[in-house]
Amino acid sequence: MSLLREAEKCLANQKAYAGLNAFITPLQRSGSWLDRVRDADARRESRSSKSPLDGRLIAVKDNICTRTLPTTCASGVLDKFTSPFDATVVNALEDAGAVVAGKTNLDEFGMGSHSIHSRFGPVRNSRQDGDEAPLSAGGSSGGSAVAVATEQCYAALGTDTGGSVRLPAAYTGTVGFKPSYGLISRWGVVAYANSLDTVGILGRKTSVVRDVFNVLNHHDHRDPTNLSPSSRSRISSYLATPPLSDRLTSRPLRIGVPLEYNLSELTEPVRRAWLRSLAHLEKQGHTLHPISLPTTKLALSAYYVLAPAEASSNLAKYDGVRYGTRAEGPDSEEGPNGYLYAKTRGEGFGAEVKRRILLGSFSLSADAMDNYFIQAQRVRRLVQADFDAIFSTENPLRASAIERQETTVDVLIGPTAPSTPPRLSSLLDASNQSSPLNAYVTDVFTVPASLAGLPAISVPVSVSDSTSSSQHGSENESSDTDTVGIQVIGQYGDDELVLKVGEILEHATFVE
Ligand code: GLN
Repeated sequence: MSLLREAEKCLANQKAYAGLNAFITPLQRSGSWLDRVRDADARRESRSSKSPLDGRLIAVKDNICTRTLPTTCASGVLDKFTSPFDATVVNALEDAGAVVAGKTNLDEFGMGSHSIHSRFGPVRNSRQDGDEAPLSAGGSSGGSAVAVATEQCYAALGTDTGGSVRLPAAYTGTVGFKPSYGLISRWGVVAYANSLDTVGILGRKTSVVRDVFNVLNHHDHRDPTNLSPSSRSRISSYLATPPLSDRLTSRPLRIGVPLEYNLSELTEPVRRAWLRSLAHLEKQGHTLHPISLPTTKLALSAYYVLAPAEASSNLAKYDGVRYGTRAEGPDSEEGPNGYLYAKTRGEGFGAEVKRRILLGSFSLSADAMDNYFIQAQRVRRLVQADFDAIFSTENPLRASAIERQETTVDVLIGPTAPSTPPRLSSLLDASNQSSPLNAYVTDVFTVPASLAGLPAISVPVSVSDSTSSSQHGSENESSDTDTVGIQVIGQYGDDELVLKVGEILEHATFVE
């Protein structure tokens, strides 16, 4: 199919699936992008494509800055805001010939697990569970995931702070990859929690995700947290030396099965997909090893102290004076809503973001600091140490050696989420809203890798009884919940191995 036809098809799907609310700003028919796709077609004819992404439509989560389209973060404090610059990732995509396919819906500032906390209304999953009731698309990059699942774009960018790319991928049957912290530039990506934020990639196949990753995985001096060129080359030469370079090529993998991930709350399809994945890898000659990550059970609580603490500090700038949309009215009128800051912030932020600001401000306050923030930082170190103790590869960022467990492994395999997507109605239900803990628990398997900065991918694994492939064909893009997201986690810098294992699982077919 020509690139132009492919792009036209995405555009038609954006119209056909508008009800899913995946886009805040969809692509317009007008504009120079059609010419750019035509040019890419010509380059493809003459075998001079700029990259595998030349002429492809890539959707961008709406917390990533674009010069030509507004960036709202799904928030009232960024009403009608258009950035004066493009994020580095957007520039990189365009330099590779890709076209921004619009800006996708999300939980406000990336805070949420179901893409329901958006000023533009919730995202709906295109999948159904046999009923008409819409399901959660996962969050916070739910718009990007649904856009990918329904072929409204070729691939999409999301952000993943505690699971926001992996969870929507699991719920929509797509592939979602969170690279090692610091590999992809965050310059021009609106901050949620700086020590955790990463740009992630969603696609229908791991190979596409890899193509996008290769375009974005470069040093950017404008992002001070971006990995330096010297560290990059140190890590790649470490991994290119035997015995590490032999993994998969001339020796099978040692696969870790984290025992703490075997919660009694796992639903039947999730457990089934996990067992199938392990059986499949074993059949391919890889060996399975139960391992223990004892601090896992504390990771979620630590995350929900640290992320809101960083968020409360990051969001302080939206005061309507230096930054952000200003609420109407005089600056110093009497009364609780009369003061400019209070009014701007009270009207502009949604309920979940306000909750995070309150939580974060509390845990950073002098009285609570030692009991919450400091403790959570300690837990974070323990989570990192747990991972370093079980990986056979050293953490290239760790300054001192660490004692390894007797059994070490190359990658870990576990579920991405404890269950399949819940109904949107159950999440939007007023009584349920009062317990945000329900949504927080969804992130139990994704936050450990985030706290440790490790690469992790969620791939769809089939759970249907008959022989079936987890890949999405164009004919059956949205009518089943036959796959469950399975997560592969690797050591820092081992991104390519994580992608390779994702590919093995994605291509698995199961005959029982
Ligand atoms: N659900 C998590 C949160 O609300 C993760 C969000 C994310 O990764 N952006 O913080």
